[in-house]
Amino acid sequence: MYVKISTMRTALFPGSFDPFTIGHYEVLESALKIFDKVIVAVGYNSAKKGFFAPQTRVEIIKQATAHLPNVEVCSYSGLTIDACRNLGASVIVRGLRTTADFEMESVIAQANTKLAPEISTVFLPACGEYSFVSSTIVRDVLIHKGDVSQFLPKGVQIEKFYTGE
Ligand code: ADP
Repeated sequence: MYVKISTMRTALFPGSFDPFTIGHYEVLESALKIFDKVIVAVGYNSAKKGFFAPQTRVEIIKQATAHLPNVEVCSYSGLTIDACRNLGASVIVRGLRTTADFEMESVIAQANTKLAPEISTVFLPACGEYSFVSSTIVRDVLIHKGDVSQFLPKGVQIEKFYTGE
């Protein structure tokens, strides 16, 4: 007998995304080739002041991904595994740029596996053209009034969110 089970795979792509860059976008594009739905989740700590407020980071990601049907955007505070459980995601996606990223990320992945064995972590290599781009670079260029457009996904109008004050 053939029994159809649900094979819908939802992944959570968590990060600070302060702000979301074209490098993050490349990771998201790769994740969408593997998973049916990807939830981009802005993780924040209410005790830490970011450059952009969590809600602004969410709005920027929504602007960048408005044309992608299988993407949802949200924010969360607390443990990433709890966000996965609340949102029905069975996989955590993280991008890897350097060996330093790998060393840090593998420790977090192991801790998450201990806490939530039903959730797997998948690392996607930064192999796109923009693997060198980081939120730090974007913030620095913004602060010094440089042109950040090439470091952001198409369609993101960051000026709307950053007044320079
Ligand atoms: P966090 O503070 O949680 O590391 P970031 O917003 O800096 O969050 O990054 C989110 C994820 O995206 C991380 O897995 C990071 O390694 C990955 N990432 C960031 N920039 C790039 C890039 N240019 N190319 C590929 N992956 C990236």
